[in-house]
Amino acid sequence: MSVVQPVQAELSSLLVENRWNDALAAGMTPAQLLLYRSNLLGSDKRITNFGGGNTSAKVVEKDPLTGQDVTVLWVKGSGGDLGTMKLDGFATLYMDKFLSLEPFYRGKDSDSVLVPLYSHCTFNLNPRAASIDTPLHGLVDRAHVDHMHPDALIAIAASADSKALTWEIYGDEIGWLPWIRPGYELGLALRKFTRENPKARGVVLEAHGVFTWADTSKACYENTLDVINRATLWLAEKSRGKQPFGAAKVPALPVEKRREVAAAIMPRIRGLISGTTRKVGHFDDSAAVLEFVGSEKLQALADLGTSCPDHFLRTKIWPLVLPFDAANESAEQFARRVQPAIEQYRERYAAYYERCKRPGSPKMRDPNAVVYLVPGVGMITFAADKATARIAGEFYVNAINVMRGAAAVSTYRGLPEQEAFDIEYWDLEEAKLQRMPKPKPLAGRVALITGGAGGIGLATARRLMDEGACVVLCDIDHDALSEAEAELKRQYGNDVVASSWVDVTREDAVVASFRDSAWKFGGLDICISNAGIASASPVDQTSLATWQKNMDILSTGYFLVSRQAFQLLKTQNIGGSIVFIGSKNALAASPGAAAYCTAKAAELHLARCLALEGAPAGIRVNVVNPDAVLRGSRIWQGEWAQQRAEQYKTSTDELESIYRERSLLKRSVFPEDVAEAVAFFASERASKSTGNIINVDAGNAAAFTR
Ligand code: NAD
Repeated sequence: MSVVQPVQAELSSLLVENRWNDALAAGMTPAQLLLYRSNLLGSDKRITNFGGGNTSAKVVEKDPLTGQDVTVLWVKGSGGDLGTMKLDGFATLYMDKFLSLEPFYRGKDSDSVLVPLYSHCTFNLNPRAASIDTPLHGLVDRAHVDHMHPDALIAIAASADSKALTWEIYGDEIGWLPWIRPGYELGLALRKFTRENPKARGVVLEAHGVFTWADTSKACYENTLDVINRATLWLAEKSRGKQPFGAAKVPALPVEKRREVAAAIMPRIRGLISGTTRKVGHFDDSAAVLEFVGSEKLQALADLGTSCPDHFLRTKIWPLVLPFDAANESAEQFARRVQPAIEQYRERYAAYYERCKRPGSPKMRDPNAVVYLVPGVGMITFAADKATARIAGEFYVNAINVMRGAAAVSTYRGLPEQEAFDIEYWDLEEAKLQRMPKPKPLAGRVALITGGAGGIGLATARRLMDEGACVVLCDIDHDALSEAEAELKRQYGNDVVASSWVDVTREDAVVASFRDSAWKFGGLDICISNAGIASASPVDQTSLATWQKNMDILSTGYFLVSRQAFQLLKTQNIGGSIVFIGSKNALAASPGAAAYCTAKAAELHLARCLALEGAPAGIRVNVVNPDAVLRGSRIWQGEWAQQRAEQYKTSTDELESIYRERSLLKRSVFPEDVAEAVAFFASERASKSTGNIINVDAGNAAAFTR
């Protein structure tokens, strides 16, 4: 008893639970019920992976033209994710028109003819494009159909004897179809199956996933869950006590060491694979990943490639395994070794392209690996943006789960190479890539901003993120930093922002922040050195401590940040942009603020020296000089405003108008104005500018640079 109970508890935790709420569903239209079911299914990643799977319902609607009842196929359209989609994510097609397309089918390569015709079947002017999977629903004569990619079922589907295993689990309730590429041909095979097996509740597709159906949305949902849970239970029972990945070979390193190694190799990999497009990295050292990468069969299983088409479209046909010898080499030595492995992968990929290409295949795409597996350390993924890199990692975790399941009960089989190629280089896939919107100017770029929780820092973060950059916010103020991070996550999503506490005067803290940028995003492209304070007092009343504090933060701090930025940018070897937030006071002397002005002048001259040193490595260094940015700035909320008001013999309330009237253009300067100049220097628009200064001060003759 004492043994059985925990086992049952463990098993039941694997099962997907029924979350259908009758009260909520009452009163929903058939289309709303379909959406409800789709969101329930898609929001549990054990049921289907991100962006994977689709659902449909055949619904009687009033034709807006004739007022007659017509049957309409509601089916998840191209793009989007089941878990978060809205009603506008479904394509709607007149069933009779869709069925009338069959004469256009001329064998297995007919999809490029048929897919463009689906839009001619559109019901009610719905602009959502119908996907390649439409016939897998439209040709199946069942009211409600689900197509999911649960790991447990793909494990069965990707086993060498998947037909026999399917029979063993389900008997004649669930059928089995051999691998057929998704498209019209598979739709016809599904139709034939349902006609010949009227009692079947679904069918497993070899190397792919599962189809399930029923007469109502609720019954379809429950059937789908039941089919998945039966496979999960069966697999768990059969896998008990087995070691599908062989013996554990490389133990996981402690978490700090794993991050250190990731931080050392990610910038190096990033530099080597960012030739045409900058890539952003993602690091995953979850238990499932560590078990797989540390296992005896790692290389053999990785070489077999992934199976479900959704998996390898995201992860590429194989990952790259990078063995790290923790006992005999440092992280830096390891990092210097990755180049030949990356080059070999490219050659292997090019050979695969040459072997499998057909007349008229699209040109070879980026030959670099997406997934990098490091025994003892974890998994690194790279893509053109952070969300895509993270999702590629999640897909490889799905693939690991599939390999674990399949290897426990049978022999795991990847998709045959030619089939994988035909999907990867399918003209419809190519057309989808061509339709993708042009990336934003800073897509794939990583920016680190010191003083990121302050007025100018936060405005700069927003400006750079609007242009597509990922941002690491660094600041000494813990509370302000976590508030700023939370605010940016609300606005831009969790993927693209991270925070790292720093005191720019502390060498160890600065090193740690750049390390965070390296393992959280893969490296760095843009460094905004902005942390700052202000102080004012006549020189005869300035304490040594005040003098040194200004020097420590505004001069030494900028040196420490730049030194670290240089090291990281040089490791990547793809250039970069450093921007200092200086001050009008760096150029123009100001009464009663000698410590601040002198420290800012030192900062400015440091930038000029670094522009000289950085140029051969493509590292640009420029300065933005703000003046009198009162709104949003925390400097102006403290003593500084009081001191300045005293200097100008006015009140703090009057200060903004005094500065405005003092400017040549008679305008106030806001953090967003400063951020605009920073964004220019950070971007390729300024690719031919280094050692430069932009004053953002509404005009101040004393600060003219020449
Ligand atoms: P702010 O006070 O709103 O932001 C500065 C941020 O730097 C704060 O969040 C603060 O916590 C952080 N910081 C301070 N010391 C730090 C340290 N040792 N390590 C890490 N972070 C630290 O002020 P702001 O106006 O946004 O100023 C940003 C930069 O602009 C500063 O360098 C400042 O000198 C410069 N500047 C501002 C003005 C202006 O009028 N606001 C004018 C000229 C120059």
